[in-house]
Amino acid sequence: MTKFVMAIDQGTTSTRAILFDYEGNAISTAQREVPNIFPNEGWVEISPLKVWISVVDVINEVLINANTDMAHIDSIGITNQRETAIIWEKETGLPVYNGVVWQSRQSVDICESLEEYREIIHQKSGLLINPYFSASKIRWILDHIPNGQERAEAGELMFGTVDTWIIYKLTQGRTFATDVTNASRTMLFNIFELKWDDELLRIFNVPKCMLPEVKASSDDYGEASYFPGNVHIFADAGDQHASLFGHNCFNAGDSKNTYGTGCFMLMNTGTKPILSKNGLLTTIAWKIKDQVVYALEGSVFVGGASIQWLRDGLQVIEKASESEKYATKVEDSEGVYFVPAFVGLGTPYWDDDVRGSMFGITRATTKNHIIRATLEAIAYQTRDVFEVMKKEAGIEINSLRVDGGATQNNFLMQFQSDILQLEVKKPKCLETTALGAAYLAGLYSGYWKDTWDIRSKHQYQAKFNPKMDKEVAAKKLKGWDLAVKCAINFKPRREK
Ligand code: ADP
Repeated sequence: MTKFVMAIDQGTTSTRAILFDYEGNAISTAQREVPNIFPNEGWVEISPLKVWISVVDVINEVLINANTDMAHIDSIGITNQRETAIIWEKETGLPVYNGVVWQSRQSVDICESLEEYREIIHQKSGLLINPYFSASKIRWILDHIPNGQERAEAGELMFGTVDTWIIYKLTQGRTFATDVTNASRTMLFNIFELKWDDELLRIFNVPKCMLPEVKASSDDYGEASYFPGNVHIFADAGDQHASLFGHNCFNAGDSKNTYGTGCFMLMNTGTKPILSKNGLLTTIAWKIKDQVVYALEGSVFVGGASIQWLRDGLQVIEKASESEKYATKVEDSEGVYFVPAFVGLGTPYWDDDVRGSMFGITRATTKNHIIRATLEAIAYQTRDVFEVMKKEAGIEINSLRVDGGATQNNFLMQFQSDILQLEVKKPKCLETTALGAAYLAGLYSGYWKDTWDIRSKHQYQAKFNPKMDKEVAAKKLKGWDLAVKCAINFKPRREK
């Protein structure tokens, strides 16, 4: 009987289920949008029940689409938007508040009041204190529901990131667990000792009794008994971690960059965690059996979003894909640099106050140059993250694996390779997040024998190798570095 591995990918705005075959082909997909809720400026929430309904829907639909049933499912792997915090009642299994989504800023005051613990939080969790992570969101929910703290301390409430919530529901309340990757994004988990950290719990005043058990990423999470058929959940991993695995970044130095709205880069750093001095996050890549692998993570706030701005703000293109056509109408940007710091700059600059700036414009500058400079800026920013990672990890790197919407742009991919002077590889299956969750599940069940079995099937649809002269690339980078410096120095709002 042909069997498939089912991946469930619960993202910020949608939930997907994908069936993968032994070759790693996605043979059936189902998707449901899950609306975000915006109760106040800067707040982003989600209905946990709508998330659960979407999971039930996509599981049913993906099976129907493939004309199959649970009897043909080997195992299930879960991957999810990270950090989003959900609290529910033990007795009823019902949420006590909306899920507070990773992007939400509603706990910013809590984080500011804990600034004195910045160093200790970094030393233990590998993270930089910020409302992104779950801890301050848990605190916020407990402070905003009736008798929150009291009920949590009495053991009446349960906290979970989205994976834990889905697993709890799929196992009909039998499994209350998360995996090390999701735990490592809560800001309550000690990534060195691999356990909930008493001191971090004290800082955020979160009772330990409301936290799930922490398991390996490839592990038995119990039978998904909501759907008859005795199918077990054999994997759980945060989306970026699953993507790193789906890209086959199994060795230290293997790195991937996702070019979406923003860009997320992760580098496998092997079995030892590296604490960054330049604002990279240290995180657990995955745990398989007893082996824990760590990663460094960096992000670019504005990646593909700058192309959306060309479309919706400047209105010089109608579709994101047109950017390539215009960018390649000119030989180069002719000295135009665009620093798209719409909301500040992330790794390695960490400057919230800097804003977008354009440099080097002449009478000869056309929209083609500006479009080209915008695409080039995505590559330059990626290089800035990459350089810090390389330096801090002290590992030589020979390629960068890529996914995300903007990788459809061949000009961008070639320019990225030119600027990094490195091979850029785009896999055949771009659903790397779901694929990673499937691989982790299939490794546990024995569907795939080992990572060599997986590697032997991994294919690339495109590889980009440097075509630009090293000296030319270096000169362009010098211009970019200067542009960033000037953008950072331009802060008229401060002088008010
Ligand atoms: P997310 O998951 O963050 O929503 P996606 O991976 O779906 O992002 O990618 C969407 C982003 O990719 C958008 O910001 C869009 O502007 C950009 N994008 C899509 N196609 C292209 C293209 N051909 N060239 C450049 N950017 C593109």
